[in-house]
Amino acid sequence: MHYDYVIVGSGLFGAVFAHEAVKADKRVLVIERRGHTGGNIHCEERDGIDIHLYGAHIFHTCDEKVWRYINQFTAFNHYRNSPIARYQERLFNLPFNMNTFHQMWSDVYTPEEAKARIEEQRKEVVGEVTNLEQQAISLVGRDIYETLIKGYTEKQWGRPCTELPPSIIKRLPVRWRYDNNYFNDPHQGIPIAGYNSIIEQLLEGITVVLNTDFNADRTRLSALGDKVLYTGALDAYYDYRLGKLEYRSVHFDHQRFEGGNQQGVAVINYTDANIPYTRSIEHAHFTFTEADVSWVSYEYPVDYSQTGEPYYPIGDEQNLALHRRYRALAEREGQLLLGGRLAEYAYYDMDTTIARALQLAEQELA
Ligand code: FAD
Ligand code: UDP
Repeated sequence: MHYDYVIVGSGLFGAVFAHEAVKADKRVLVIERRGHTGGNIHCEERDGIDIHLYGAHIFHTCDEKVWRYINQFTAFNHYRNSPIARYQERLFNLPFNMNTFHQMWSDVYTPEEAKARIEEQRKEVVGEVTNLEQQAISLVGRDIYETLIKGYTEKQWGRPCTELPPSIIKRLPVRWRYDNNYFNDPHQGIPIAGYNSIIEQLLEGITVVLNTDFNADRTRLSALGDKVLYTGALDAYYDYRLGKLEYRSVHFDHQRFEGGNQQGVAVINYTDANIPYTRSIEHAHFTFTEADVSWVSYEYPVDYSQTGEPYYPIGDEQNLALHRRYRALAEREGQLLLGGRLAEYAYYDMDTTIARALQLAEQELA
């Protein structure tokens, strides 16, 4: 059998592209290294609870096209992410909003008072913002930086905030309202049918070969199709010939508890440097499930070499420059397409991943 596209990776990017290609009457083959499809959005049901095996996945978007697209496969529930940050004995609401500001400074009640307090503290940042520490202080001031950002970020990324790019923290909203919604997007929720169902529907009728690392058998597998869409790590595709791209990884420790509801909230962030994990996730809250048993996942940030799973690209200049060199190699290969969080070495949420896969499909399949 000869295929129009050999698609490497059955994550959201590969699955959306595969689905669109089949709709356009193309023949596709999907190659997947793991023993299951879906990449990092894959879940596993335990005790009737959907466990997000690779970290909490909350869908949110302001892209109407993506929202319409994903709603073909599932409706979404009304879950809104409102994590709690724990620092020593204190609890704070996230993202940074009027609740957080009042919890931090008990004499601050109004947006005007909060802005004045932050304005006073941000004066220490002068000139161009070049690192995460400066970016954080100029956004929310030193008190919040020291309490809610520094410890968490340095655990998460394994390096000092002064050596991290400002872009990482720009994801988080700063809001002058009493509003704990972690996202600003109009469309948010957890898929009622589950993430696995979305992937199953996208890949329906498509041949997927599991437990197969494309890079271990690249020449033979490439020859099976006219074109290859590669959604894995780009340095691995080139056998690291220009050097290794850096990633941060996470070890997920999934724990079962008798007695149901342990946390009272889906996500707790531990912003204290002394606690080795960054987050604990109680999955039942995503679906408002009441049960006598609960599953809580603890996220321990670790070096990529410890897990071999590249979760977070380190988007500093050095790594981005190396990625551009790999991309230049790929562009010289006429039949190679790249896409997704890994191949593009970018911190894409699910909605951006879908938008980019649809964009590639439009270009390719028109
Ligand atoms: P992936 O899901 O990584 O899929 C790539 C697939 O390719 C994998 O299945 C992999 O096994 C396979 N593969 C790689 N190399 C090879 C190879 N050589 N041969 C064969 N197969 C290969 N987004 C949100 O919108 N909301 C969230 O709350 C959210 N939380 C997240 C939490 C964490 C911890 C992480 C890491 C990401 C989170 N995301 C979230 C982002 C979301 O996971 C991604 O946008 C999306 O899953 C990317 O899909 P992808 O197909 O590009 O990559
Ligand atoms: N962050 C932080 N404290 C928190 C939550 C987040 O300092 O309590 C910082 C941290 O650097 C993190 C970044 O903000 O990497 C982005 O946070 P987000 O929750 O979007 O991370 P993700 O879900 O992508 O891991």
